[in-house]
Amino acid sequence: MRFDILSIFPEMFAPLINYGIIGRAVKGGQIEIHVVNIRDFGEGRHLMTDDKPFGGGDGMVMKPEPIFRALESIPRVKGERKVILLTPQGQLFNQAIARSLTKLKQIVLVCGRYEGVDERVRSTYVDMELSIGDYILSGGELPAMIIVEVVSRLVPGVLGGARSNLEESFEDYLLEYPQYTRPRVFQGEEVPSVLLSGDHGRIRLWRRTQSLKRTLERRPDLLEKTRLSEMDNSILKELKQEQGRSSGLSNQG
Ligand code: SAM
Repeated sequence: MRFDILSIFPEMFAPLINYGIIGRAVKGGQIEIHVVNIRDFGEGRHLMTDDKPFGGGDGMVMKPEPIFRALESIPRVKGERKVILLTPQGQLFNQAIARSLTKLKQIVLVCGRYEGVDERVRSTYVDMELSIGDYILSGGELPAMIIVEVVSRLVPGVLGGARSNLEESFEDYLLEYPQYTRPRVFQGEEVPSVLLSGDHGRIRLWRRTQSLKRTLERRPDLLEKTRLSEMDNSILKELKQEQGRSSGLSNQG
C-alpha cells in the first residue's frame, strides 16, 4: 500500500513515518509513505499556495494550480488508487471505511489549510472526501495521519499477530473488554480472578461478556450493527435485566 500526502507542512509527518508500528511498517516495506510539499509547486516568485476568496470574506483559500501540479507529479502505481480530500464536510471516517480502503494500492491524501481548498480541486481530482469528526481543525495533516495509521494497521503484515486486529474495538462493532497487566493488585484494586485462572474457556466467556457489557453501557447503537450469536443474545438479556434492576434501585434511593 502506498500513501502520498499533499501538505504545506510536510515536516509534520516525520513522527508518524519514523516511530511505532507505522515506522516499522515503512522500514519493513509493508507500506510506503511519500509526502509532497505543495509549496514546491507554488505560484510565482514567492511560491504562493493560497489567495483571497472571490466574493470576499475572511481567510485565505488554497489555490488550485499548485495542488493540481503536485497531484500530477505523483507516480501512479499499478492497481486502484483514490484521491481523498480531508474536509470536515466529508463522510465520517470509521473502521468500516478504513477496511474498504485496504483494497486500494495507492491512497493520495490532500490536506487543506486556511479556509480550505478551491472547489475545482474537489470537482476535478477528488474521488472521496473524509472527515475525522464533527469539529474543525486548522489543517488536514492530523486527519491524514489518522487515516494512514488506521488503514495501515489493517494491511497484512503491519501488525505482528493477525488476531490482535480482530479483537479490537469496532472490528465487530463491539467495544473491547477491560485489559490488565502486572501487578496483580494495584492501589488495592485486584485483577479479576478469572484472568489468572488459566482456564481459556472461562476467560473467553468473561471477555465476551465484558465486551457486550461495555458496548451496552457506552455505545448501545453499535449493537444494532454487530452480528450476535444466540449466546451473545442471552448474555445481553441478562445484562439488560441487571441494568434494569440497578436503575430501579437507584430510582428508589
Ligand atoms: N472552512 C472550512 C469548512 O468550513 O469546511 C474548514 C477549513 S479548516 C479550518 C482547514 C482544513 O483543515 C480543511 O481544509 C481540512 O483539510 C482540515 N480539517 C479541519 N477539520 C477537519 C475534520 N474534522 N476532518 C478532516 N479534515 C479537517
